[in-house]
Amino acid sequence: MSLSAHRCASCGATALGRRARCPACGADAFAPTTLDGRGTVHSVTMVHRAAGPSPIGPTPYTLVLVTLDAPAMDKVMALAHEPPSIGDAVMVRPLQEGAAAAPYIAEPTA
Ligand SMILES: [Zn+2]
Repeated sequence: MSLSAHRCASCGATALGRRARCPACGADAFAPTTLDGRGTVHSVTMVHRAAGPSPIGPTPYTLVLVTLDAPAMDKVMALAHEPPSIGDAVMVRPLQEGAAAAPYIAEPTA
């Protein structure tokens, strides 16, 4: 399972999802790329009151901010079935099988 991303043709910064401009340099040319999804948990949030229904079930649920191992890549927000600890190694993938975009799920690596 991999993550679909776009790599800036000017500076090489990588972003998930469709962008009109590179968040790092402002260029507007991108090349599609894939990321393996490996990363490290940066922060953990337990959501007890949600603005809307969660794709993984009722509250409380866990949101994690993950720093992906890919070079020049920003952090990505993902859901988690079990609350990880900060610093845990995780694998991030689209929650729905075959989807190319958010929502994402973070799962512990074996
Ligand atoms: Zn750029």
